[in-house]
Amino acid sequence: MSKRVINIAAVPGDGIGPEVIDAGMEVLNAVAKRDGGFVIKSERFDWGSERYLKKGDFMPENGLETLKAFDSILFGSAGDPRVPDHITLWGLRLKICQTLDQYANVRPARLLPGIEGPLKGVTSKELDWVIVRENSEGEYAGVGGRVHQSLAEEVGMDVAVFTRTGVERIQRFALELARSRPRKKLTLVTKSNAQRHGMVFWDSVFEQIKGDYPDVETDKMLVDAMTTRMVLKPETIDTVVATNLHADVLSDLAAALTGSLGIAPTGNLRPEKDAPSMFEPIHGSAFDIMGKGIANPLGTFWSAAMLLEHEGELDAAKRLMKAIERVTGEGKHLPRDLGGTATSREVTDAVLEAIQQSNE
Ligand code: NAD
Ligand code: MN
Repeated sequence: MSKRVINIAAVPGDGIGPEVIDAGMEVLNAVAKRDGGFVIKSERFDWGSERYLKKGDFMPENGLETLKAFDSILFGSAGDPRVPDHITLWGLRLKICQTLDQYANVRPARLLPGIEGPLKGVTSKELDWVIVRENSEGEYAGVGGRVHQSLAEEVGMDVAVFTRTGVERIQRFALELARSRPRKKLTLVTKSNAQRHGMVFWDSVFEQIKGDYPDVETDKMLVDAMTTRMVLKPETIDTVVATNLHADVLSDLAAALTGSLGIAPTGNLRPEKDAPSMFEPIHGSAFDIMGKGIANPLGTFWSAAMLLEHEGELDAAKRLMKAIERVTGEGKHLPRDLGGTATSREVTDAVLEAIQQSNE
């Protein structure tokens, strides 16, 4: 019988992107081999700032069409000191997310075994969250403009756009995700005291639909108050849903509270599965450590586990996650950002070995 093939487009991007994505593909192939039920086919696309500086675009004109032929995308990071960040972000990562309408950005935050976060006495029992970020509109809709440039009366505007379709689909996605987790708990985060149009709209859509999920316990929080709750009462939080901007900020805080930006994963999901979803570590291109071989690949490995889960390969996803946890738990091969001395290669080898030795 021929095996199922998962077609992955690898887009390493800039900075440490290629270092962590090549390690991520190695680990994905190893887990496929160990699992035996499927094979990975992949193609690597050298899209990013280097190409932009040479050719004037981050990806070829038909790049998005090319991506549509794949099941999933594994993305590194985009950002280069020689190119303004907003040009890079809109030219590559946001272009992919928005065109493929990957509207649900899912960001798990959990303290892995052996890792001590900055919060005293807090373990994975207290800190095990999933932040759901609206990923298609809101503050990052790209609507706005600059007028009277460089004159005294210069104006810059970004307009936050919230549509009923956009708000309802992300809230329903989060309610369903909360329902699938043991605690069945969802916190809606907005800022409806100050932003009295769009954010009040978010609150009211939530009021209208949450009754369809009677088994999910819900509460509501302003985004500023949420930051203090994350630090002071992490155990009261489970699943969180918020706008593009708010959840962007909250999830960086969440990543820091789980030990390091280097470990945090994310999925830009197209839940309908009629277009590929994209998985990536949440860190950026980390110019300061690029080319030194010390980037933490664990955020990419965790993202790869999310990819496998999205593809329905639940056993393989679990095996990979267990391998990551074994390496953090043993503590012998931790990268520098997690307090160890291991190089990217050593961390990768340790995870590969843990995959080999896994026996379920
Ligand atoms: P960054 O995540 O690149 O780096 C912040 C700090 O964390 C640095 O000190 C870095 O060395 C460290 N760090 C990050 N990832 C690490 C890893 N895997 N292992 C070890 N240490 C790690 O954030 P920044 O410095 O704010 O941004 C740098 C560039 O990346 C900018 O151009 C920014 O726009 C871009 N960026 C891209 C994305 C993305 O593509 N999704 C996300 C964030 C930032
Ligand atoms: Mn961010």
